[in-house]
Amino acid sequence: MTEAPDAAIPVVGFRLWLLGGARTAPDLRSPAVAATWAPRTAMVAACPRGCARPPGWDCGCGLYATSVLDRLLVPAVGDGVLLGCVALWGRVVEADQGWRAEYAYPLALLVPRRRPLDRALEQYLSPGLARMRRARWLARGGRAEPPDEGTLAALGERYGVPVHVVAGLLPRIPDDDLAHRAAALRDEAARGLPHRRLGDGHARHRFTRAIEELVAAFEGWSDPEPPPLSA
Ligand SMILES: [Zn+2]
Repeated sequence: MTEAPDAAIPVVGFRLWLLGGARTAPDLRSPAVAATWAPRTAMVAACPRGCARPPGWDCGCGLYATSVLDRLLVPAVGDGVLLGCVALWGRVVEADQGWRAEYAYPLALLVPRRRPLDRALEQYLSPGLARMRRARWLARGGRAEPPDEGTLAALGERYGVPVHVVAGLLPRIPDDDLAHRAAALRDEAARGLPHRRLGDGHARHRFTRAIEELVAAFEGWSDPEPPPLSA
C-alpha cells in the first residue's frame, strides 16, 4: 500500500450507493455501513475502530471506490442500487483495485433499470443471495425498489450531479466495450474536474459525452437472447 499526498485534483473511481430517503427528498446511503451521504457536502470517512484520521493504514476504514467498473456490476444487481463515479480526496490510500479515502462526493450517478429478464435470471442464479442482499439494503435505509423518474430528477437536483438510467446489468459481464468506456469516463471525470468547477463549458460537454457513451455501452447489452431458465 502507498499513500498519495493530499491532492488538489481528486482521484476518481466507481462505487455503489443505495437509494434511500423519501420520494421527494431521495438520498444516497452506503451499502456496507449505516451512513447517509448528505447532498452538496463532502462525505467524511469515519472509523468504527477509532482511527484518528481515517483511512487508517492497517484498518479497513475510509470511503471506498474501485478503478474498475466491472467489479461492481454483479454486486449492483438489485433494485434501488446505484452505480456512480466518485471524487476522492484528502488522505487517499491505495487498496485492492481502488482506494480508501478521507473525503468523497459523487460526480455522476447511473441507475440500473432492470428488466423482467434480469429478475428472472437473478432468481435462477441465486434466490437466497438476492433475498439476503435485499434485507441488508433495507437495514441500511435503502428503499430496495426501482425508482421512478420523479425520484431520479429530485436526486439529481438535490446532489447537483447528472443521473442517467442504464439498461439491465445481467447477463453479459464482463464486457470489453463497457470497460473501455468506463475507463474513459473516469479519466475525463478526473482531468476535467478543475475546469468544470470553473464553469468551462467544453469540459462539461466532454464529461457529458463520456457519460452518454458509457450509457450507450450499457444499451448495447439490452436485448440478449433469453437464457435457458428451464434447462
Ligand atoms: Zn480505521
